[in-house]
Amino acid sequence: MSSILALEIVIVISTLSILSYKLRILDLYGTLLAASIGGIVYLTVGRIGIILLTVFVVVAGIFTKLGYDRKSLVGAAEPRKGLRGWRNVLGNGLVAAAAAVVYTLAPQHSEIILSGYIGAIAAVFADTMATEIGLLQKRDPILIIGLRRVKPGTPGGVSLLGYMGALFSAVILVAAYLFLVGSNPLAPHIVGPAVISASLVGTTVDSVIGQLLQGLYRCEACGKITELSTHCGRMGKLIKGYRLIDNHTVNIICSLSGAVVGATITLLFYSTV
Ligand SMILES: [Zn+2]
Repeated sequence: MSSILALEIVIVISTLSILSYKLRILDLYGTLLAASIGGIVYLTVGRIGIILLTVFVVVAGIFTKLGYDRKSLVGAAEPRKGLRGWRNVLGNGLVAAAAAVVYTLAPQHSEIILSGYIGAIAAVFADTMATEIGLLQKRDPILIIGLRRVKPGTPGGVSLLGYMGALFSAVILVAAYLFLVGSNPLAPHIVGPAVISASLVGTTVDSVIGQLLQGLYRCEACGKITELSTHCGRMGKLIKGYRLIDNHTVNIICSLSGAVVGATITLLFYSTV
């Protein structure tokens, strides 16, 4: 690694870390983990990787704070004023970081793995945007399986506005890829379908797993049904799903599904030309 690249990485990662901490997008441990993942991505995938990751963190951070009071009122806002911690970063970044490492290990498949990396980010970006934009809707969401109306923030709840949010994030990611990334290793007609499919599939997988497997608890102090295992300072009673599968585990599965879809679309493209 040249010393100029090393300097660039240090400057960019420190600037982004200070910004996401100061703008209260991430807390201290969240910032430290994000900086480590960012460093890995910079060293492996390079500038494209870090640009796409930054677009996700910044845009998702802005939309989390949009209409925050209204989201709080329906009891579905991200806790701590939208400030996210290391568990959020791990849930959203683990698969992308793994794809970034595999990217350098298998250079002969770089297009497919890069597509998997982009798909992993597309999925969690879309899922976050679907939630944050979907919560702005006045009507309650419906469960993805069974279509019953549920309270906003219920795992498995979906809405048309939410899916439009997912599509919107895909458009932002493709635009960032085309306009901010200098030389594009993947052609637009591959990136477009890969990102859009990874976004829609990832959001859907997140809702299905969220509804079927995610642990849901009843707080024995206030009676609220929540996806948080502790509420009012005490352990809640598990009433549905599995303790091991929380919101962060669901995010990892969502991101993995996006990676698989992204990589598969590129693989199909290369095997048919
Ligand atoms: Zn409670």
